[in-house]
Amino acid sequence: MADDRFHVYDTTLRDGAQQEGLTLTVADKLAVARHLDGLGVGFIEGGWPGANPKDTEFFRRAQTELDLKHAQLAAFGATRRAGMKAADDPLVAALRESGAPVVTLVAKSHDRHVELALRTTLQENLAMIRDTVSHLRAEGQRVFLDAEHFFDGYKSNPAYALEVLRTAAEAGADVIALCDTNGGMLPDELAEIVQDAARAGARVGIHCHDDTGCAVANTLAAVRAGATHVQGCANGYGERSGNANLFTVVANLQLKRGYDLVPDESLADMTRIAHAITELTNVTPNSHAPYVGTSAFAHKAGLHASAIKVDPNLYQHIDPAQVGNDMRMLVSDMAGRASVELKGRELGYELTPEHTKSLVERVKELEAEGFTFEAADASFELLLRDTVQGERKRHFDVESWRVIVERTKGGELVSEATVKLYAKGERIVATGEGNGPVNALDKAVRQALEQLYPELAKLELIDYKVRILEGTHGTDAVTRVLITSSDDKSEWATVGVAENIIDASWQALEQAVTYGLLRAGRDLA
Ligand SMILES: [Zn+2]
Repeated sequence: MADDRFHVYDTTLRDGAQQEGLTLTVADKLAVARHLDGLGVGFIEGGWPGANPKDTEFFRRAQTELDLKHAQLAAFGATRRAGMKAADDPLVAALRESGAPVVTLVAKSHDRHVELALRTTLQENLAMIRDTVSHLRAEGQRVFLDAEHFFDGYKSNPAYALEVLRTAAEAGADVIALCDTNGGMLPDELAEIVQDAARAGARVGIHCHDDTGCAVANTLAAVRAGATHVQGCANGYGERSGNANLFTVVANLQLKRGYDLVPDESLADMTRIAHAITELTNVTPNSHAPYVGTSAFAHKAGLHASAIKVDPNLYQHIDPAQVGNDMRMLVSDMAGRASVELKGRELGYELTPEHTKSLVERVKELEAEGFTFEAADASFELLLRDTVQGERKRHFDVESWRVIVERTKGGELVSEATVKLYAKGERIVATGEGNGPVNALDKAVRQALEQLYPELAKLELIDYKVRILEGTHGTDAVTRVLITSSDDKSEWATVGVAENIIDASWQALEQAVTYGLLRAGRDLA
């Protein structure tokens, strides 16, 4: 485990997932966790096991599927219910059984919330905290406490808010994270309260929301006032205006205040990681995001362009390479020789320098068209195979496809697709019906191939993501489709890009089937 003196605690998978329009499958959550671990955060809050079936499954699968190098998983949950023992509360049991080494308990620290929302007495709330913290500690888990509405609570009844903090610390909570749950604080006042809390005899952390646009500033002010544990979310995800952007917080603390939070080489990978996570969340990346945005170090040609050539440092606050960004260069996720070589090795291919060179060029071209390979591992592997084999080999050759959408008199929409292809020397024509055009195409292509490749019956499309990419320099917008497929053993993702959404979907679908056949042991050669 990393140095315990200062914690970088990520809550993307729990608090960040509250963002409107953001949904993550369990596989997405596992992939986000891997990226965060790659950045070197100390803790990853995975969700609320017991309260949410998806989160329960996340913790179950994490035990076998996540091999974390830096981070520890934290399970989030509430203190026991009023009037029962922590040991008897099924929700507390779910935290205990999550397999997570750390439990973060949320507790009320605002007297009005205790009485009005929790509908119990101030004394019982303290007993709930004491009992739950000491129970989980006795069962061998490390416990942090999120003191909900702490700042508003402190303003309403400071003695009680501090009593919550002391109670949790005395019961064995290692950190009390002070939460600006409504996000209404400003840095100066927040810092005074943090200072007072830090004097109360507990290790304090900070959890800020961005409703005043000050979440990052508040986090930094809290650190200066004595907090040694910072919480935040990747790309500032979160409900309303979002949570403190953990990437900005980490970069600020490490590059401006000299904290040693993550390895320098991981910090230099932060831009790639930030973008890779947007592919999983399907939230359009904010090009103006500090440090990692594509525009963060972009300069318009003009007055200072020539000075930039002489000395770029005159016009930038850090060397963008420190966070893996580049002055005016669009971020290319995969297109570095080193990362392509690394990925090739990871997939079991020894690439010659010529292979690497042509693969890098091809990836760059495709990324300029809107493709992304960061989240489409299977598409990347197919591209790599084509490069190594020197030709594009497939299990089947498509002659044509078409799809029609019909709205019946009763208002029902039916899609029908026809696919014509060659496989094993045969010409096959097949049709499929579905509730949408992509579903119909999927059925038609399986119909065509299942006779020859019965293993396709196991293949399933489990996720479909669409993003419209804005046109640049007078070109039209294009559509990018990411499809996640699975057999009974694993999952893989493929990507297609086209002006037409069905065309983009078809590309991703064709690769999904090809890759599925490879997984089933049907080699292309
Ligand atoms: Zn929150």
